[in-house]
Amino acid sequence: MDTNGKRDFKGKVAFVTGGGNGIGRAAALAFARQGASVVVADVSENGNRETFRMIEEQGGRALAVRCDVTRVEDLKAALDKTVEAFGRLDFAFNNAGIEPRKPAPTADYDLEEWERIINIDLRGVFLCMKYEIPLMLKQGGGAIVNTSSGAGVIGIKGSPAYTAAKHGVIGLTRAAALDHAAQNIRVNVVCPGYIDTPMMDRFTGGTDEGRARVISEEPIGRMGRPEEIANAVVWLCSDAAGFVVGSAMVIDGGQTIQ
Ligand code: NDP
Repeated sequence: MDTNGKRDFKGKVAFVTGGGNGIGRAAALAFARQGASVVVADVSENGNRETFRMIEEQGGRALAVRCDVTRVEDLKAALDKTVEAFGRLDFAFNNAGIEPRKPAPTADYDLEEWERIINIDLRGVFLCMKYEIPLMLKQGGGAIVNTSSGAGVIGIKGSPAYTAAKHGVIGLTRAAALDHAAQNIRVNVVCPGYIDTPMMDRFTGGTDEGRARVISEEPIGRMGRPEEIANAVVWLCSDAAGFVVGSAMVIDGGQTIQ
C-alpha cells in the first residue's frame, strides 16, 4: 500500500473461484482495478467469459479457466495455467459455493443434498487451499480469503448442510491461518449477509415479496451489494491488513447481531 492509501497490486496475481458471477465477479473486477492480473475460475463457461470480458473492458489483465472446485484435476490444471500465464500466485479468493435447494429439518434432510453442499462449500475450499498454498510458499508468501456466510456464525433452521459447511469454512480458515502464518501466508474469511446476486435471485424466487422478506431480516434495510464484499476481500489481501490473520469478517448489515 502506498502512502496515499491506494492499494497497488501491480505485478500481483489473484485467483478467484466462482468468479463467473455474483460476489466472485465483483472481487475479480476489484482485484483487476487494483492492478492485479486475475484468473477467473468458475464452473460456468459463460460466466467466465463475461467476467473476462468485463475485466478487459476496464483495461485489466485476465485469464478465464473452467474449474469445478470439487475436482482435484480441474484445480491443479487451473493453477498450472495461472503460473504459466502470469508466473506466480499472490492472492486467492476461494468463494465458489452453492445454496441449499431442499430445506428440511435435520432428521429428514436429504443425504444427497448434504453431500452436494458439503462437497462444494467446504471440501472445495479445502482443496483450493491445499493446492494454492504450495505455490505461495514457493515465492515467499501470499494472502487467502475464503467465503463463509452469516450461516457460518449462526444456525439456520432447515439448513443443516449449509450451516455446517459455512461454520466449517471458518474453522478451516483458522486452522490454515495457524499452519501458515509464520510462512507469510495470511488466511482470512468473509461472512456475507444477504447479497444481491444470482444466488439471491434463486433464493427469493426473484419476486418483490421474496426480496422484501429477505430485506426485512436486514437491520440496515437493504441487501448488500457484491462490491461491498469485494472491497473487504481486496483490503484483506492488501498490506493494510498485514496483521489480520484468521479473522472472520462479518459483512451483513447487522443481520447476525440481532
Ligand atoms: P452465485 O451463484 O451468484 O455465483 C457463484 C458462482 O460460482 C456461479 O458462477 C456458479 O456457477 C459458480 N460455482 C458453483 N459451483 C461451483 C463449483 N463447484 N466450482 C466452481 N464454481 C462454481 O453466488 P454468490 O456470488 O451469491 O455467492 C458466492 C459465495 O458467497 C458462495 O460461497 C455463497 O455461499 C456465499 N454467500 C452468498 C450470499 C448471498 O447472499 N449471495 C450470502 C452468504 C454467503 P453456476 O451458476 O453455473 O452454478
